[in-house]
Amino acid sequence: MVAEQRFVIHKHAASTLHYDLRLEAAGVLKSWAVPKGPSTDPREKRLAVEVSDHGLDHIDFEGRIGDGYGKGGAIVWDSGTYRAIDEELSPEAALERGHLSFWLDGVKLRGGWTLHRTGRPGLKARWLLIKRRDEAADARRDPVSTRPESVRTGRTLEDL
Ligand code: MN
Repeated sequence: MVAEQRFVIHKHAASTLHYDLRLEAAGVLKSWAVPKGPSTDPREKRLAVEVSDHGLDHIDFEGRIGDGYGKGGAIVWDSGTYRAIDEELSPEAALERGHLSFWLDGVKLRGGWTLHRTGRPGLKARWLLIKRRDEAADARRDPVSTRPESVRTGRTLEDL
């Protein structure tokens, strides 16, 4: 059984620019803030800080967040489906244990990735997001700099 679930990466200009990776799991969007965004180079380990779960209705969100936490613009930088690569555990169980390998089928990102928790569980837990070595790995690609636009509307953060 290969369950496909949705993912989104929001590019979010809050107090500091970051990329929010959100994976649909157990009826919510499990979320990490990735300051530098994902890399397609397997040698790059990107810090991913665990943040609050979001509701599934947030998956298409694009626009300006008003006052309060997260104030600023957000666009759908990438979206698509993902599936766990190791079928032993559900994604939510794998995340509880602090290690999930998954395959992304997005517009800008494709291939295998690993999320690995390096500290204690909980909000603000530090994880590493690393591209797996497969045919979609490419050290020369850098979609974070070459593809700034929304895959939903073509807008950039500056257009909001
Ligand atoms: Mn954010």
